[in-house]
Amino acid sequence: MIRHTDVVVIGAGVSGLTSALRLAESGFSVHVRSAEPPGRTTSCTAGAIWGPHLVAHERALAWALRSLAVFRELATDPRTGVRMVDGVEASRGTLVTPRPGTGPDDVRRCDPATLPPTFTNGWRYRVPLIDMSRYLEYLSERLDDLGVEVTITDPVTAAELPRLAPLVVNCTGLGARELIAGDPVAPVRGDLLVAENPGLDQFFVEHDDDSDGLTTYLLPQGDRVMLGGSRSTGDWSTARNPEVADAILARCTAAEPRLAGVRILEHHVGLRPVREQVRIGPDETHPHVLHNYGHGGGGVTLSWGCAQEVLECAGAAVRTSRPG
Ligand SMILES: Cc1cc2nc3c(=O)[nH]c(=O)nc-3n(C[C@H](O)[C@H](O)[C@H](O)COP(=O)(O)OP(=O)(O)OC[C@H]3O[C@@H](n4cnc5c(N)ncnc54)[C@H](O)[C@@H]3O)c2cc1C
Repeated sequence: MIRHTDVVVIGAGVSGLTSALRLAESGFSVHVRSAEPPGRTTSCTAGAIWGPHLVAHERALAWALRSLAVFRELATDPRTGVRMVDGVEASRGTLVTPRPGTGPDDVRRCDPATLPPTFTNGWRYRVPLIDMSRYLEYLSERLDDLGVEVTITDPVTAAELPRLAPLVVNCTGLGARELIAGDPVAPVRGDLLVAENPGLDQFFVEHDDDSDGLTTYLLPQGDRVMLGGSRSTGDWSTARNPEVADAILARCTAAEPRLAGVRILEHHVGLRPVREQVRIGPDETHPHVLHNYGHGGGGVTLSWGCAQEVLECAGAAVRTSRPG
């Protein structure tokens, strides 16, 4: 039955490609439709480090841990763009536990004397770092191997959505705001600089409370290093602001002096699709439409856990629609 069930996945970001892969591997006949190619999605602007930031859902940690297990395996193959990397999460305030909670490897408290100036406590651990442009290509190649077509088309409209296929998976991120009338998914703008890597091989992440403003993180990706970052709630602009870029570079250089004078190669701006809660599961009016969007600043981190949830919902939808 599953083998003959056509599914259209809308969206070619990390949520759409991962959901499509899980469905296709389980025997569904899958087609991906997207308004933008993978390389132009929000997903492609991410750093990306495993860790559920700006995400609300009671199952978020469970999804993140499921993804962690998959990323650990992917990290054994250099073609995936996924690597397990050591680094430090540090705070300027009172002692905190590492934000990703249970899961990261080799968690140990840092000697404060080894932290950058003004940081007073921190944790060292190992988590996946994902080179998103390489990783999205890798997911696309796996889909291609399974015969899944990814078509870049005009945006799907609200009227089309329920008519696309016997099963539809909505992975449109911030695009859901237009597709689903009245949906509250909203942007939290983020800026990230791509710089030449002066030899960094460990990440550094400032522990903060996810509120608006600037923060500090350095994510080495081979000969490049991703420098962040910023958060600006409700900001739809993707225009680059040189003042924000200068401020990010200054903060990162204060934390890691080897960044002084590095060449900036790119300035990414992305809009995180933030919702009061990740939306996952069947639509109330059209139960054959399964939603998977609103992953905030943690869509990469949640991707495999959410794709598994989509697969389970798809199986349930097929069983329900099967003639008795
Ligand atoms: C600066 C920055 C840094 C980040 N760092 C991290 C990190 O370190 N770790 C982490 O886990 N997460 C991180 N994130 C968050 C992460 O990038 C997002 O949560 C994730 O990319 C969301 O993926 P998505 O596939 O749901 O949405 P998107 O990547 O936005 O993809 C949506 C897709 O839907 C398509 N679409 C939209 N509307 C329609 C329509 N009507 N019809 C057809 N197609 C449509 C789009 O074209 C696109 O293909 C970061 C985000 C930013 C901006």
